[in-house]
Amino acid sequence: MIASRFTAPSAALGRLLRRRPSFPRGLHLAEHKDTAGLPIQRLPFAPELIVPMLQHIGKPAIPSVRPGQTVVRGEPIGRADGFYSLPVHAPVTGVVRAIEPHLLADGRMVTAVVIHTLEAADQRVLWRTPRDVERLAGPALIQAIQDTGLAGMGGAAFPAHAKLAPPEDAVIDTLIVNGAECEPYLTCDHRVMLEWPAAVMAGIRLAMRACGARQAIIGVEDNKPDAIVALTAALPADGSVRVQDVATKYPQGAADILIYTLTGREVPAGQRSSAVGVLVSNVMTLATLGQLLPAGEGLIERVITVAGPGVARPGNYRVPLGTPMRYLLDFVGARGGVREVVLGGPMMGPAVASLDVPVTKGTSGVLVLTPRELAFETRPVRACIRCGECVCVCPRGLNPCMLGLLAARGEYETMVADYHLEQCFECGCCSYVCPANIPLVQQFRVAKGVWRKRSASRAA
Ligand code: SF4
Ligand code: SF4
Repeated sequence: MIASRFTAPSAALGRLLRRRPSFPRGLHLAEHKDTAGLPIQRLPFAPELIVPMLQHIGKPAIPSVRPGQTVVRGEPIGRADGFYSLPVHAPVTGVVRAIEPHLLADGRMVTAVVIHTLEAADQRVLWRTPRDVERLAGPALIQAIQDTGLAGMGGAAFPAHAKLAPPEDAVIDTLIVNGAECEPYLTCDHRVMLEWPAAVMAGIRLAMRACGARQAIIGVEDNKPDAIVALTAALPADGSVRVQDVATKYPQGAADILIYTLTGREVPAGQRSSAVGVLVSNVMTLATLGQLLPAGEGLIERVITVAGPGVARPGNYRVPLGTPMRYLLDFVGARGGVREVVLGGPMMGPAVASLDVPVTKGTSGVLVLTPRELAFETRPVRACIRCGECVCVCPRGLNPCMLGLLAARGEYETMVADYHLEQCFECGCCSYVCPANIPLVQQFRVAKGVWRKRSASRAA
């Protein structure tokens, strides 16, 4: 996460003056979306792919291959272990070199199938079981979605089938398609909306059938007018899906925020969006669903924005899952002295500790920063001056100033009980504006971790 001050560009000023649906507070950031004009291109296969059995929130898959076995691109190599688990498919044709623990970007060690790429391997998918999706409904449709191995591609990586099967007591009337892409630098969702609008619509139709929604609203920030035009041209004639441009403002793409912007409904604290009849899905997730399900294929690659001042050839790359980060960065080239590699956007993305981690289903971006962007790290942290800037920008309406003071004193119980710490979704707006350079969001992360641990040990 970085908190350097991007200067607001004049291009954003015109949009600020036009009224679009939005939410209170938040930030107008410089966009740095220079890769928006670059078409999606394929990344070649790395000599070896590290394919983790856990690339989603839930239980890991169980490897279904053995070392020495030849696998073809698209073939299942791990089977789901229960409902909150996903199968894993081979992203490349090759030979399984090992099944061993491997480091993930979040610091966990998980079992991975390491595939040595065959020299003759090409991009054709050699394993598929095409389906007549028009006949799929109910549990059979949910099962078919699980078989694709699809996880949310906006970053959270929640199993798509589990999200689309809402609780039995919930009635979903609206599917919200998240095409906001509000983080600076990221443009992969933008390119998908522009280049694959038919797949987006196919995925929306399937998702609506799965969750029972009667209408879908695609929310797109108004800094992507070409994507809005492309999607609008592909809308179905029955009027069940519409595109809504929303104000370009961070964090417009946070699920609960977008629900409020598009429907005016507020998700009650601690509840899921199904409580207000809404389900939110990322636009790339749905485009991928629209491609994979009719073809009967598994998820083996995804589009990633590779950008930042430290990248020589930035762009949007279609990357095989399991590609080592080091190979990806070698391919795009470095410039300006790489200082930090961030996964996702600069506001919420974590920095990676090792370049030996693989690209996974939830990797939406790779941002390479140089010492210049990280100069803020050397600024001294001073005492809070009670300026109230953090309060003015918090999209949750929290009091980050007070939370920060309590965090410094270790009063975590009070932070939760009286100042609603659990409502903080770590957007980073408060840290970004703080003139005293107080690392508020980092303090909140630590406080949540300690408080959850204490609660768990009390409950045990
Ligand atoms: S308190 Fe949490 S939700 Fe509010 S601005 Fe800070 S990080 Fe964002
Ligand atoms: S922005 Fe920083 S200095 Fe200002 S009130 Fe908040 S924590 Fe204090």
